[in-house]
Amino acid sequence: MFTEDLIQRLRDNGLNVRDIRGLLPRNGTWMLRPLSAIKRIAVHYDAENRPHAYDSLERYKNEAQYHINKDWGGGAHGDGIMYHIIVDNVGDVFFCRDFEDVTWHVGNPNYSAVAVKFDGTEGQEPTREQAESAQKVFEVLCYRCPEFPALQGDLWGHREFVQFGGNSTACPGLFIELPIGYRDNRDTNADRYPYDYPPAQPAPIPEPQLEPVPEPEPVPESPIEEPIPEPQEPSVQPIENNIEVSMLLTKIKSLLGSLRFWIVTLTYIVAILSAIAAGGLTLEVFFKITQIWLGAVVGIGTLDSISEKLGAAKK
Ligand SMILES: [Zn+2]
Repeated sequence: MFTEDLIQRLRDNGLNVRDIRGLLPRNGTWMLRPLSAIKRIAVHYDAENRPHAYDSLERYKNEAQYHINKDWGGGAHGDGIMYHIIVDNVGDVFFCRDFEDVTWHVGNPNYSAVAVKFDGTEGQEPTREQAESAQKVFEVLCYRCPEFPALQGDLWGHREFVQFGGNSTACPGLFIELPIGYRDNRDTNADRYPYDYPPAQPAPIPEPQLEPVPEPEPVPESPIEEPIPEPQEPSVQPIENNIEVSMLLTKIKSLLGSLRFWIVTLTYIVAILSAIAAGGLTLEVFFKITQIWLGAVVGIGTLDSISEKLGAAKK
């Protein structure tokens, strides 16, 4: 049977195909044709809102019943769903009718056309999954079905069938881009549409933490609130001593960095050198000058008083 072969070809091309021919409502008899009569492929939408998630089979059962109930003119009712193949929002393919079945979907050219329908309505673009599946379906129908003569250039949106005597319609809305793209460039341009469901991806590998080593917190001069003590190794020294030591270290650090320290020290060195030059550097004078230097460094004397003291020491 051709249908079974076709389903297999679609599956071989990476499509998830479900044969629902026996699951949809049917009514009465219908016209058959040889496969060689199929000269065109028609693209439709069902003009029904496509939500993010829905029961595809239930939707198609309702559509089949709608096509059966509908008066197609002169009291004629459909024999079942009029689409041969349907592509749902996630790109799954539902095989609904044998290609030999002549169904009513484009008017006069029905006898020479098969119907491929996509779920969606006016204003809705294809999902990425639909466009990707469309590409695969079209490839099979146009290039892997030598049983009928429809080729890449024979793929048309429903409303384009007017040129072949078809009825006037807005169908297939924005889905018209699928047959146009494929007919012109053999490409449905699937990557221009967002996925309805993002493809399953492996969980992202966590990036290694590259945060910089945090700067040590400055010791607050008057802490507004007591910081919660971090658990740490027991210190030998009491906390108060630690604070004193750290304050002393801070003082020494700022002292070393201060200009005044270096000026005083330079003066001290000059004083020593000039005492040597004057030939008067006794041990007593050296200690005296050094004592003044230390006093100036640790104490709070002004530069003037330091100079005075150094000068007095030299005398
Ligand atoms: Zn249509």
